Amino acid sequence: MNNKTRHKVKNSPSLFDYENEQIHPLTSHLLLWYDEHKRDLPWRHTDDPYAIWISETILQQTRIEQGLDYYYRFMTKFPTYQDLALAPEDEVMKIWQGLGYYSRARNLHAAAKSIGNSFPRTHEDVIKLKGVGPYTAAAICSFAYGLAYAVLDGNVYRVLGRYLGIPEEIETSKGKKIYSEAANYLLSKERPADFNQAIMDFGAIHCTQHSPKCDSCPLVEGCYAYSVGQIADFPVKKKKLALKHRFLYFIALENQGYTYIYKRTGKGIWRNLYEYPLIELDQAINMNQLLLRDDVKALWGKDKEVDSVRVLCEDKKHLLSHQYLHANCIVIKLKSVEMSSIDELKESPLPMVSPEVIPELKAIYGDNLRCIPIASVSEFPLHKLMTIFQDQTKINKK
Ligand code: SF4
Repeated sequence: MNNKTRHKVKNSPSLFDYENEQIHPLTSHLLLWYDEHKRDLPWRHTDDPYAIWISETILQQTRIEQGLDYYYRFMTKFPTYQDLALAPEDEVMKIWQGLGYYSRARNLHAAAKSIGNSFPRTHEDVIKLKGVGPYTAAAICSFAYGLAYAVLDGNVYRVLGRYLGIPEEIETSKGKKIYSEAANYLLSKERPADFNQAIMDFGAIHCTQHSPKCDSCPLVEGCYAYSVGQIADFPVKKKKLALKHRFLYFIALENQGYTYIYKRTGKGIWRNLYEYPLIELDQAINMNQLLLRDDVKALWGKDKEVDSVRVLCEDKKHLLSHQYLHANCIVIKLKSVEMSSIDELKESPLPMVSPEVIPELKAIYGDNLRCIPIASVSEFPLHKLMTIFQDQTKINKK
């Protein structure tokens, strides 16, 4: 343990004054607290490593209340890793839709395909699965197999950071090492799964970020941050970088019940998910400015006319780790003239566009722009913003 750890409160012994055969008070208090306060969650009634893997991956995305629904849907659709491995990627992404961080779903899928006849049983093999990091590996190994690996998530950082007064930033490799050593030292070797659940639950319910319940805390006697009145200063975090603002304008083109939808490529978090054609800018513009842009007008070309324009969603703010998205969705309805027949529509790659602008659109969208019936948009795996637009459409129709 690094000697920078400040834990020495009143008459409390320091972290390493305890021998291995003694149970540290933090460990025993947390286990007692857990026995009384633990939350009844479905993945706590199973030792199936696959179910635990899925639940932990989902819970890295979202709160438990919302995660429960996704967990049930995922496990119903893909009850085993073999079922997941055999599923088409679009199906997996569809179930994941709305959770965000879609690379995690892609990694789950790729990892399931890589597993042979049985799920890995050792920490060394579990952590080799694509997308499985130290947290998930420790969770799977302790919850499914009872192996003594301590988990480290935001809740654990907060409880340990405050209790021990750890001065290192949690994002640094040195900080991570100190926290990992402390967590593994404090981990109950008899009840590793319960200890891991206990410290995470305690951070989530009791030692919360903004309203820790210090007055009724079983750890208050030994808590460094409480003793020096600096609870808000722990765990120590790096100063946040300035957020980048991105202004997104999604164009929902409408013509005789059809619209364009684009499958994203590249490496972004929304890779392989679908959206309306997108104009991205680094500052906001108004509707008139938008409609005058060549890359917007290219979506229908010179010989077609706009019938009506409607703002479906305006400046919907969406916060990612280092970016602030300002999402707008504009519905542009074309005048129904010379629209291709349904047969032509099936044949033409971009039937709502004048032929002369097809090369222009191909240069922007490649072959990933598709014309589909508006009614079938929601059947595609959509990214988070698109699901918001779809919900908005339903609200407007009510
Ligand atoms: S005393 Fe307060 S800050 Fe310290 S562990 Fe308990 S709830 Fe958290």
